[in-house]
Amino acid sequence: MTSVYVAYTGGTIGMKQTAQGFAPVPGYLENALKVQPEFQDKSLPEIHLHEYSELIDSSNITPEHWNIIAEDISNNYERYDGFVILHGTDTMAYSASALSFMLENLSKPVIFTGSQIPFSQLRSDARDNFIGAVQLAASSKIPEVCLYFHNTLYRGNCCSKTDSSGFSAYQSPNYPALASVGIDIKINKALTLTKPENPLHIHRMGSVDIGTLHMFPGVSPQVLENYLRQPVKGLVLMTYGAGNIPSNNKALVAKIKDACDRGIVIVNCSQCLKGSVDMSAYETGSILERIGVVNGADMQLETCITKLSWLLSIHEDPELVRSLMSQNLRGELRGASNSTMKTSRLPMGY
Ligand code: ASP
Repeated sequence: MTSVYVAYTGGTIGMKQTAQGFAPVPGYLENALKVQPEFQDKSLPEIHLHEYSELIDSSNITPEHWNIIAEDISNNYERYDGFVILHGTDTMAYSASALSFMLENLSKPVIFTGSQIPFSQLRSDARDNFIGAVQLAASSKIPEVCLYFHNTLYRGNCCSKTDSSGFSAYQSPNYPALASVGIDIKINKALTLTKPENPLHIHRMGSVDIGTLHMFPGVSPQVLENYLRQPVKGLVLMTYGAGNIPSNNKALVAKIKDACDRGIVIVNCSQCLKGSVDMSAYETGSILERIGVVNGADMQLETCITKLSWLLSIHEDPELVRSLMSQNLRGELRGASNSTMKTSRLPMGY
């Protein structure tokens, strides 16, 4: 019989109504699960629920929590067929993306899920999300970090939360769903990563000294300058369309160039949810390429932030970080098939 390790980190799925609004309460989710008849169903994999001692609203998540989740998976890796991480929806796309980079050579499914309405409430989406995630985690065909929500399995480092109230809360704009769950569970094997041969290796996430800056008409070079003060090591620049900025704002361009020259890694990430940065398309974008800004291509904002943070927390050399940002390390860049994964050419394990 397959067995699945379920880590409950907090989030709406196990929350209870309190005087201050919904909040996670220890033991509440476990008790709610015990009284649901479907969880006694013999066709479900065996479930081991582990509730974290500090249950959080995911708005409070930090890289230190990601390290705890990664270690928890690593400590239980041999004993279970797959892992479900119950997590709040607000930052689930960040956490799934971060863990995808931190867990190198993952050969078992790690599925993040949560819900928009707590388990205990009428019309909750928790039950379906939970059962679907557990069934997918029991499948040996998905050796990667995923996010499962509203009948759809997404690659964990390709998602954004795009709806704060609807049940279909996530999208993976630049990579198709890995599986859909209807009458049947259909896993698209052609889209999932291949199983690695080497053993699991955990990379810790260090402190994250990066910033993000959204371009908008009238954006001030002084604001950018403040963003780029020490100890910032990286910046995700959220640009227009195919990766463009107001290039006639010479002071702005000069500040970006100066930062690149000082070794700050600046990544060009489009404000558009779907599509890719193409820094050769317009003069307003090619200027960034010429001054040393990295192409964020079709990565989501959550992916750019977590990948940059992770690379900067394990590497000091900005040139190496720039190069790795452009390489497909965990299937985060669209259209990069397994055969074009460049992990074998990296200077150390990634
Ligand atoms: N604020 C909650 C959280 O992210 C929202 C949710 O779980 O849906 O933990």
